[in-house]
Amino acid sequence: MNHDASREMLESLPELAPGEKFCFDCGPEVPCFNQCCAELTLPLTPYDVARLRRQLGMGSEEFLRAFTTMRSFPDTGFPLPLLRMLDGPGEPCPFVSPAGCSVYEDRPGACRCYPLGRGTRLEGAGVDERFFLVREPHCHGFDKGCERTAAEWFENQGLAPYNQANDRYMRLMALVRGTGKPLEAKLATMAILCLYQLDKFRQLITNMGIFGRVDVDAARQAAIMEDSPEGDAAALDFGLDWMELVIFGECPNLHRA
Ligand code: SF4
Ligand code: SF4
Repeated sequence: MNHDASREMLESLPELAPGEKFCFDCGPEVPCFNQCCAELTLPLTPYDVARLRRQLGMGSEEFLRAFTTMRSFPDTGFPLPLLRMLDGPGEPCPFVSPAGCSVYEDRPGACRCYPLGRGTRLEGAGVDERFFLVREPHCHGFDKGCERTAAEWFENQGLAPYNQANDRYMRLMALVRGTGKPLEAKLATMAILCLYQLDKFRQLITNMGIFGRVDVDAARQAAIMEDSPEGDAAALDFGLDWMELVIFGECPNLHRA
């Protein structure tokens, strides 16, 4: 789904006013438990992949091959891996189990966000957010539960680091969209490596001597190279800066050495 189609789809849904509460809860007690974890078109962001592949103890390349179908955004050419549902009856998500989501701690941002849709628009250095309610006929989560605002739901679902990383990715894509033409194939391939394969990106940093070419202080270098969830967040942040520098020849966060 491209950016505009997704915005159009969201805007056809009822919008939550700022501070408005909605009633929702989900757990094994609902009669529809697990029904929503099937037949999905679920795009994975770079941060989703970083969390999932680490949770599964897999390399990123292996994860992408095993669990995704790679597409690209038609307007920008950026990679768009879709989580591949299993073949067979009901086409379930590969991670759903009778007890629920088997990767719950590291489930994708879209799964955390549901039943809200988050519409975003860049506003200067920040992001303007709007929230929409997705009410699907099969979902009984609205029947009872806590009343929360969108902000309380996002906090409850641990969405802050997802939104932070995804908003940065959105910003880079918006810059490319503004040029009116998608990335060349070579840059699209580099985007997979630098954003979706952070373990391989670390190898590239070493092999190409990237830290010798740009001005990155020692603390940031150490954070980027750390093989940990925090290191992945730092490497993704750097990967976004590096891609901007490579695509446009300049990046306000990253200067050539
Ligand atoms: S990742 Fe987990 S929550 Fe998301 S669709 Fe799959 S099983 Fe459901
Ligand atoms: S359909 Fe709604 S209530 Fe049922 S399991 Fe999915 S999110 Fe929860």
